[in-house]
Amino acid sequence: MPNLVAIQKFVEKNFSHFGLNKKAQMIRLVYEIAKKEKMSFAAIFLLEKDRLKPFTVIKKELLSRRFPHLSDREKERWHFSPLKLQPKNKISVIKQKKFLPRDIFIEKDVRNAELVKNMKKKFPHARYHNISSYQHYVKDKKFSLCDYNRRLEKFFIVKEKYNFFVDCPCTKDAVCCGYKIMNCGFGCGFECQYCFLQSYTNAPGIMLQANLEDYFKEFKSFKNKNIRLGTGQFTDSLIFDDITNYAVEIVEFFRNYPQTRFEFKTKSKNIGGLLSIPAANNMIVSWSLNPQKIIDSTEFYTASLKERLACAEQCARHGYKIGFHFDPIVFYDGWEKDYQSVVKDIFKYVSPEKIAWISLGCLRMSPKQKEAIENRFVDNKILDGEFVLGFDNKLRYSSHLRQDIYRKMKEFILEHGKNIWVYLCMEDKEMTNKLGTH
Ligand code: SF4
Repeated sequence: MPNLVAIQKFVEKNFSHFGLNKKAQMIRLVYEIAKKEKMSFAAIFLLEKDRLKPFTVIKKELLSRRFPHLSDREKERWHFSPLKLQPKNKISVIKQKKFLPRDIFIEKDVRNAELVKNMKKKFPHARYHNISSYQHYVKDKKFSLCDYNRRLEKFFIVKEKYNFFVDCPCTKDAVCCGYKIMNCGFGCGFECQYCFLQSYTNAPGIMLQANLEDYFKEFKSFKNKNIRLGTGQFTDSLIFDDITNYAVEIVEFFRNYPQTRFEFKTKSKNIGGLLSIPAANNMIVSWSLNPQKIIDSTEFYTASLKERLACAEQCARHGYKIGFHFDPIVFYDGWEKDYQSVVKDIFKYVSPEKIAWISLGCLRMSPKQKEAIENRFVDNKILDGEFVLGFDNKLRYSSHLRQDIYRKMKEFILEHGKNIWVYLCMEDKEMTNKLGTH
């Protein structure tokens, strides 16, 4: 990895005539180029010549090198923020990881909940603490990326009082698909490099809501039950299912509402609960998919591609509908071949009529998320992509690249079944209209 301190010293010494902001822009660009091209930063400059150039010329040259495939107009939407790397934020990814919470905090209102009993059985050596409420516990505290890195050490078993179902946060100006989140878990044990939770949450651990019955009560009061619902937004839907056993309760409840389509979204192989009871046709079990090389390099601790597809096959055979999410799609040289091969694999395991939907969404992130990724996963590859500020102020691949990716992905999928519902996730109206995918 490029040595940031050395780059800072180099720029300071050789470009001391530039102001702070200009030097900070140079530092970021030089760091990103050296990282992407795997070369010494010093080789980026022809020093004697470069030192005399005005900043606008140097910046233009650095931007062209950092974003070789973007037009000048697109390059203007490059997002700059000063590069701040703190070594203490870096995480080390170990081969096998077990969830072994050290401290489990239980709100007084759910002391006798079934979930607490399950936790005690599963984690007899953890320290259990009674707390009045989670809000009180975290009051006035700020949590850092270091706390996020240690989030699996602490679990909070809480009673949800208000936000049983929330509208999918979607993104500003995107075409909304009307999805609702059943908010019964917050935080995840997997480590996807791109996960939005790493910059979204200000929580010191994993939160599990223990009062599922209140969610069901709330749902019964909904006038319109013809909706799509799911649990996989603020956590992976099944990652903790062997602790919570929620999948069973959820299926048993929602099978009585066939007009509601309920989705479990996962990268796990934790399907024991789902297979232990009869399936229901309105229950969809979905897997996020990526080529195995992306799973290996960015989706740590998750099930492999083959395991995900094998689980999908088992769930389909059992009677569930299946969903797939190509989200995020990561662009790299040779992406087409790899993604087309994943699409082909899907249909070796699951027949088109069993598929409820397939969504597509290219890798995107907020600037804050990018900061978290570059701090936590210093040697990531995903940030080497050419991102510019998109319609929602998130960093996105250029519009023409995204369009090309979606068009090809749609073709790959529809080759296997003309009636498969393919939709775009978190894209604007223009993109959605061009692709005709909503
Ligand atoms: S599975 Fe989803 S929630 Fe969990 S780390 Fe990955 S992206 Fe985040």
